[in-house]
Amino acid sequence: MSITSFNPPVRTLMGPGPSDVHPRVTGAMARPCIGHLDPAFVGMMDEVKLLLQYAFKTQNQLTIPVSAPGSAGMETTFQNLLERGDKAIVCQNGVFGGRMKEVVERCGATPIMVEDDWGKPVDPQKVEDALKANPDAKLVAVVHAETSTGARSDVAAIGAIAHAHDALLLVDAVTSLGGSELRVDEWGIDAIYSGTQKCLSCTPGISPVSFSERAVAVITGRKSKVQSWFLDTNLVMGYWGPNAKRAYHHTAPVNALYALHESLVMLQEEGLENAWQRHLDNHLALRAGLEAMGLSFVVEEAWRLPQLNSVTVPEGIDEAAVRARLLSEFNLEIGAGLGALAGKVWRIGLMGHSSRAENIFLCLSSLEAVLGEMGAPIETGVALAAAQARLSGD
Ligand SMILES: *Cc1c(COP(=O)(O)O)cnc(C)c1O
Repeated sequence: MSITSFNPPVRTLMGPGPSDVHPRVTGAMARPCIGHLDPAFVGMMDEVKLLLQYAFKTQNQLTIPVSAPGSAGMETTFQNLLERGDKAIVCQNGVFGGRMKEVVERCGATPIMVEDDWGKPVDPQKVEDALKANPDAKLVAVVHAETSTGARSDVAAIGAIAHAHDALLLVDAVTSLGGSELRVDEWGIDAIYSGTQKCLSCTPGISPVSFSERAVAVITGRKSKVQSWFLDTNLVMGYWGPNAKRAYHHTAPVNALYALHESLVMLQEEGLENAWQRHLDNHLALRAGLEAMGLSFVVEEAWRLPQLNSVTVPEGIDEAAVRARLLSEFNLEIGAGLGALAGKVWRIGLMGHSSRAENIFLCLSSLEAVLGEMGAPIETGVALAAAQARLSGD
């Protein structure tokens, strides 16, 4: 065999994640590996927990990074809160609500589905109706930022309804954390999971989670053991917990946690609210360029995610061919549509370190070049100026 070192091409990542990783983060990752019980490492773990509390806007003690990607954070929240025979209201308006349903079923619980069209937010009235019909529901689960469509849902409103019916609120914030307004304590979120590879400018593979005191009381009061040994927070907290003598549970992904630490330090330096604003400003500039070109958005303005732009593919254009050319000729990755939107939209991510002016210009100019050559009905020569005008606040 003549297999040698792998050297990936240098890409610009403007899809649904992973997004561009900041050089400070990859630099942190290359630092020496130390023991996962080394006092120096344990000190860093405490900082990671504090920084995650900052990013989530929470005082929750049980705020930790799960040693696996966002999907493992999803499993962690559901598996710890649900027991066999429980009922859970699951809101679905895209791909990720469907995954929640799968996980609820695998917990031996019954999902009660609240469905909305792809590209639309979750309708809080439907959640209220579902809770009235199912007063024994233990929790309401909702995706804050539906990455499959680019739609945001009103988590605070849904949380107020859930609490009025004595149900817990469980939130998927994989794409929202660090990218748009998210207030765990203020919005009454009881369990939340996120990911490192979307708006945190970090590498994939870690899932920050947080549980409210109410949720912790539910977990400690369980009648049955959590089905997953690895994701059981009662056990994981022996390693991550406060005051406890840190005991071996599993070997933490040491270097990946250096990366998360660095990305959260950067978030704190920028300021959380400033990071939200940056995502919004860059979205508005990209939007100005795309609309000047004649392209249109899938999601209604009020519910659009700044970090995930779903754009309608022009009539007669092979969307996959466009993405292939952007990748091969411009080293630019954008995302395809999923499920109900497959073939009809592109998903352009402006997440984390990807959310910056040079990426907006690369995306607009390369998309214009490719679409122009393919004969798409677009306006050429105006997109960059429109984006620039927006960025400079004209
Ligand atoms: C990316 C994503 C996930 C899954 O995260 P992984 O790290 O890929 O496991 C879950 N929910 C949403 C909304 C996402 O965007």
